[in-house]
Amino acid sequence: MRAQIAAANWKMNLTLKQGEELLDAIISQPTQLQSHQSAVFAIPFPYLTMAQQKLSGKYQYFVAAQNCHNKKSGAYTGETSVEMLQSLGVNYVVLGHSERREYFLESNQFLAEKLDICLANGMHPIFCCGEPLQIREANTQNEFVAKQLEESLYHLSADEVQKVVIAYEPIWAIGTGKTASSAQAQEMHASIRSSLAGKYGDEVAAKISILYGGSVKAANAVELFAQPDVDGGLVGGASLLADEFVAIIKALK
Ligand code: PEP
Repeated sequence: MRAQIAAANWKMNLTLKQGEELLDAIISQPTQLQSHQSAVFAIPFPYLTMAQQKLSGKYQYFVAAQNCHNKKSGAYTGETSVEMLQSLGVNYVVLGHSERREYFLESNQFLAEKLDICLANGMHPIFCCGEPLQIREANTQNEFVAKQLEESLYHLSADEVQKVVIAYEPIWAIGTGKTASSAQAQEMHASIRSSLAGKYGDEVAAKISILYGGSVKAANAVELFAQPDVDGGLVGGASLLADEFVAIIKALK
């Protein structure tokens, strides 16, 4: 079975103490993950070591960064390289979240460079894509997302692209409490998979995990994750509440 992933995105929230308490509350609850399931925590940079220590040895629990730089090293004040993350034992990174696209002007081309440096160094990227409200209202969301994939991903080889986890996050559903219906999520995930199949073939497309993000919570996770092309979720707000996020982990198929 394809990898099924519950990914928490803490964004720029919590103090160190609050982060420690949240992780303690989550890992104290049994989730019995199977080998195709995982829980990934995208943690603010200053707390990565803390999270790495707390989750080490916890089966199928992994730490992710929320971003990395597109260059190997050098005079890029304030930035964090792939090599730095890996020196902490962090092997996952979220790329292209809509907040980074909007506030830090990250383009599809720039994200293609970040994907390259991650894949060249064995880092697992969680690549975010998704349309704003006006595109959904114009019913051109499938083309919009296909273009994001084309411009950031489709220069990759078939071997490389299989190492990417895709997170479809309609921008109108992020942090708004407005979730895409399970039918809307399935329709877009099937469209993404069909675009991947057009470029890389059915066999490769079938192996790529596609997460849904946008107001996922315990109350809707089971129905969303039950969709055949939804392979888990990228979760913001609800990942800051231990019981909510544990229930979301347990909703993985
Ligand atoms: C996100 O941060 O990627 C996200 C989907 O946030 P929320 O779950 O709060 O909508």
